[in-house]
Amino acid sequence: MLKVDLHIHTVHSDSPLVVADVARRARRAKVVAGICDHLSPYHKMFEATAFDAYVADVREHGLLLGAEYCVGEEIPVDDDRLAELDYLMGGVHAVSVDDKKHFFWGTELPTDEDAFVTAYLELMLKALAEDPLDVLAHPTYLPVPLNHRYDDVWNERRCGELWTAAAERGVAVEISGRWLVPGERQIKLALEAGVTFAVGSDAHRRAELFAVEYPRQMIERLNIPEERIFLPQRKKT
Ligand SMILES: [Zn+2]
Ligand SMILES: [Zn+2]
Repeated sequence: MLKVDLHIHTVHSDSPLVVADVARRARRAKVVAGICDHLSPYHKMFEATAFDAYVADVREHGLLLGAEYCVGEEIPVDDDRLAELDYLMGGVHAVSVDDKKHFFWGTELPTDEDAFVTAYLELMLKALAEDPLDVLAHPTYLPVPLNHRYDDVWNERRCGELWTAAAERGVAVEISGRWLVPGERQIKLALEAGVTFAVGSDAHRRAELFAVEYPRQMIERLNIPEERIFLPQRKKT
């Protein structure tokens, strides 16, 4: 199986990793690696000059060039710049319910859990319908206080809606080595719906680089064929 990790963060957003070091380690570990820094108002990279420096750095080191925007937020660079990327990931990091924004990494539990889940699903469906994304990052991840309801939340009906939309749009579903989502049952439903899958570690630290045990396990166990694994085309060498 080809070793791939398309979801690595660096100093260009919220990680201390430098691109040169990731490139060196990827060569040594024979991993096809993609840098996928945050492209968002909450991180450093939200203006043209920072974006251009990012593109130059990743290209110089020969890695795949991705970026992760926050679903529900405006993408902060113009379309020409966006087109330079080999791939664009969209990740939900916050969901608004009744005009109150719930960030996923907060500890506050949304009071109306069902309204939260409904808004979350709608946000992903809207992105799949309207945004120029290639990969849905860590889909179905739930904030910790809600996670005990995972299988109940991501039931056949909701998964059916989500995965059908992803398959129709040709957007790959990431299997996240860090967040261990989607769950096995949900991946099975995605497979049946015809989606392709992307493999990512969401690494922010050196020890997390290429930590894609979970996606590799799922690919093996569910016999996901190679042609259903997303591999972006390099736009420049
Ligand atoms: Zn993310
Ligand atoms: Zn990420």
